[in-house]
Amino acid sequence: MSIIYHPQQYRFADEANHDFICPDEIHTILREAVPTPQRVDEIIERALNKHRLSMYETAVLINADDEASVAKIKKAAHELKERVYGRRIVLFAPLYIGNRCVNNCAYCGFRADNRKQVRTTLNAEQIVDQVKCLEDAGHKRLILVYGEHPDYSPEFIADSVRTVYGVKHGKGEIRRVNINASPLDVAGFRTVKEAGIGTYQIFQETYHRPTYEAVHLSGKKRDYSWRLTALDRAQKAGIDDVGIGVLLGLYDWRFELLGLVRHVNHLEAVFNVGPHTISFPRIKEASGFSVDARYAVSDEEFARLVAILRLAVPYTGLILTAREPAALRDEVLQYGVSQIDGGTNIELGGYSKAAATQALEREQFTINDNRSLNEVMDELVDKGFIPSFCTACYRTKRTGEHFMEFSVPGFIKRFCQPNAILTLAEYLEDYAPESTREKGYRLIDKNLETYPHDAFKDRLMDRLARIKGGERDLYF
Ligand code: SAM
Ligand code: SF4
Repeated sequence: MSIIYHPQQYRFADEANHDFICPDEIHTILREAVPTPQRVDEIIERALNKHRLSMYETAVLINADDEASVAKIKKAAHELKERVYGRRIVLFAPLYIGNRCVNNCAYCGFRADNRKQVRTTLNAEQIVDQVKCLEDAGHKRLILVYGEHPDYSPEFIADSVRTVYGVKHGKGEIRRVNINASPLDVAGFRTVKEAGIGTYQIFQETYHRPTYEAVHLSGKKRDYSWRLTALDRAQKAGIDDVGIGVLLGLYDWRFELLGLVRHVNHLEAVFNVGPHTISFPRIKEASGFSVDARYAVSDEEFARLVAILRLAVPYTGLILTAREPAALRDEVLQYGVSQIDGGTNIELGGYSKAAATQALEREQFTINDNRSLNEVMDELVDKGFIPSFCTACYRTKRTGEHFMEFSVPGFIKRFCQPNAILTLAEYLEDYAPESTREKGYRLIDKNLETYPHDAFKDRLMDRLARIKGGERDLYF
């Protein structure tokens, strides 16, 4: 195995050595990282020059909490995002497949002891119904979510993934299915990989082991190490596209941020590929919910931590979900979020219901952004973001796409932006109301002006014309 980052600074772990998260190391770094203005400026400069930050450098930014430094960090995160990712935002939707669960996570409405929760597992027919609704809204990328239960075996998960890929409804199809499911063994990961999953996503929830043990009251999920090493097993099974995350509000967010960076370092050191995405959900009210509010993360801290993460891991996708209200989502989009969900409904079977209401006894937690996909699209277009449903890299086996966006010169201009434009055009043709269509095409025209008149632009214009003429699924 080769090591690509800061080899002098980390203890390397493989599957024989699981404790790559060392709390003493994290606490010491947090204590010793003194944020002098000069140091902060130097670190920001390094990040803007596309250097990955070390844990120590990340901790300096975390500790730089005076107004001037926070403003500088946010400004730099915005600049880096514009420079690295351009103005594309990838859109997806979650689809909850089943809420049966053998675990007792204190924060989750699905936990086994919550008798109020109505338990449902979608059968194939119900999955098809939900996917038709999502396709009718214009979605192309889904993440399937499962509780942890013997019913949700790797074969069951793989079958549900295949069912989703099989739904071709009207002009719609789902082109990328990611999953968020409890940790599997290597054979289990192989089974779900064969079904063609995009990303396997799993959140450690908290990297702080004592807190982890305090909030995971019973069930298989109590085993911190089994969860921490899930992605090592996924990699071993050939799944090299993985997502990590923490549930903010269980422990000090500063510790969690360094835990995330440490986990990235581990994956890069051992497998030569970091995570594709990082998620950082804040805990929300849930049915039967019981969590100490001591570590609640304020809106201001949340915005700061997104900006710090952007600078720390510039080529990792950052995911923000409808747990957060629209106004805050709009703010942190500026600091480096690259993927959001739209038109989200987390009630089991909720996409086929007439009204988007929240029924906590049928859901995992409360969401705070109930906008339809088209409302989210409208908002993004109004702000000059290009909503993207692109799945080209995954389908052409250009894996490590975020790394390429970041490091391959011209990649965004030749692949990501044109593909965003093409998938937006498909949406405008097939699903958008007239008002969205008009402003969407104005945005496309404005972006096309940034391309020089050459052979590439001719190809792009040709594909755009073919989409307007009824062809679909054209990409670079
Ligand atoms: N059961 C699988 C597991 O625990 O790994 C699937 C994950 S769960 C259905 C998806 C994620 O939702 C969890 O990993 C957790 O981070 C998050 N979650 C759980 N309860 C939450 C709450 N009350 N507020 C916000 N997010 C929550
Ligand atoms: Fe079950 Fe996952 Fe909820 Fe825990 S977070 S109770 S494992 S669904």
